Amino acid sequence: MSHEAIIVGTGFGGMGAAIQLKRLGIEDFVMLEREDDLGGTWHVNRYPGLAVDIASVTYSYSFEPNPWWSHWYARGPELKKYAEHVADRYDLRRHMRFDTVVEGATWDDDAQEWEVRTAGGDPVRATYLITATGFLSQPRMPDIAGVEDFAGAVVHTARWDDSADLDGKRVAIIGTGATAVQLIPRLAKRAGHLTVFQRTPIWVTPKLDYVMPRIVQRMFAAVPVTQRVARRVNTSLLELIMVAAVLHYRHAKILNRGAAAAAKRHMRKQVADPELRRKLTPDYSFGCKRPTFSNDYYPAFTRENVDLETTQIERVTADGIVTAEGRTTPADVLVLATGFDMWDANFPAIQVLGRGGKDLGAWWRSTRFQAYQGIAVPGFPNFLSLASPYSYSGLSYFTTIEGQMKHMDRLFSEVRARGATTFEVKDPANEEFLGWVTERLDDSVFSLGSCATARSYYFNQHGEAALLRPSSTIQTHRAAQSFPVDDYAYAGPTPVS
Ligand code: NAP
Repeated sequence: MSHEAIIVGTGFGGMGAAIQLKRLGIEDFVMLEREDDLGGTWHVNRYPGLAVDIASVTYSYSFEPNPWWSHWYARGPELKKYAEHVADRYDLRRHMRFDTVVEGATWDDDAQEWEVRTAGGDPVRATYLITATGFLSQPRMPDIAGVEDFAGAVVHTARWDDSADLDGKRVAIIGTGATAVQLIPRLAKRAGHLTVFQRTPIWVTPKLDYVMPRIVQRMFAAVPVTQRVARRVNTSLLELIMVAAVLHYRHAKILNRGAAAAAKRHMRKQVADPELRRKLTPDYSFGCKRPTFSNDYYPAFTRENVDLETTQIERVTADGIVTAEGRTTPADVLVLATGFDMWDANFPAIQVLGRGGKDLGAWWRSTRFQAYQGIAVPGFPNFLSLASPYSYSGLSYFTTIEGQMKHMDRLFSEVRARGATTFEVKDPANEEFLGWVTERLDDSVFSLGSCATARSYYFNQHGEAALLRPSSTIQTHRAAQSFPVDDYAYAGPTPVS
């Protein structure tokens, strides 16, 4: 049996796509999910300290506001609950199939549909395929010799093990990205001794976090426009950081430098020791790497039981970590806050074979990472890839997904209006979009700033910053609602124009 659509992934991206299909009147779709429950990132990540660092009024669907967020920045479990609420509210659960690992998808030109292969299951077929596999869904193990020989518990942050005994133990953590920034203060409180292995420091600015006052929750519930205003103000501030300071670096260097100065001031207030401050200060421009927000990260390093190790790691042994200088740090627990593999394992997360067997991953690697409007690729009919190059817009993922929902709305409405069954983006439209993003990125901190030492996942293996869409949220959403519909070719079952 063939469905109208298959969505791969049940995180906020997949659920947004599903809600949009329903709005378009498409009910015959399945959502295939590798994990045992919905929520994507917010189901998988469970490490202590997990919270969002984009304020919740913005980090949520605009059409499904939650007036009852407990904090200005919701904690991880609350976001998981919000995901469950959305699934129930929009009747998505009955479409979901959990523990279903998608291995690959192939376009069948004769049947004009996709065949999706799943591990140990029968293939599933559908007219349309939408992959919503997320950007940060393939945990990266560090390429450090001996990790597998470590005798104690080894825990990657994306596979948190609650049974790992941390209390009073000697804990070593590798990595100082956004995840580690949240986790380190918690580990510091529980470990007997914590050693943080930092390869590249991270910019950290203050986090204006607080418990949401009851009166504000009630006001958001009773007068929803107040929450919409809060969302708009907060989103505009984020745009100022992301769009002006990062993407329009050429014209707004002063904002970028202001952000770096704010981070340095934050550190000076919290860390008295100049040598420790020197080690924690990045030597690359603000925004080359995703900035973070925290009030308790720097203070953790001033505790008696916490050491910062900045010498390169040479190897891991059964009972500790040896640096290039030959110093050994004994450890009982090794925490890997080493992030995710985006450019080798995630673009795309599954094998996708389009028209004539065109392999998406191979094509991206042999040409350039590219996707028209960050969502469609020539040679791949009836296929939308939500986690695509140049798709991420703004700082909140919901900005991206809601833009993509608008794109789906315009595209599928056009398919229907023309009586078509297939769509495929045209080569020239794709090339024009790639040219446009490439040119606009010339103004960004990625081109003009000092990013060489940042080791940022914004850059791919060819040195291109091919993740972020260089436009404002307003421009992204306007483009999603007004792209030329003739940028796509439409066909069958009977000839269409
Ligand atoms: P990440 O930013 O990629 O950081 C990985 C860290 O591990 C880096 O410090 C990296 O050092 C280090 N590392 C990796 N391999 C290493 C090796 N072989 N030796 C030494 N160090 C190594 O990953 P993440 O912290 O998990 O964050 C990923 C993204 O998740 C964030 O940027 C953010 O978008 C998202 N996130 C969001 C929130 C939120 O609140 N919304 C919270 C957490 C995470 P180098 O920098 O030197 O490579």
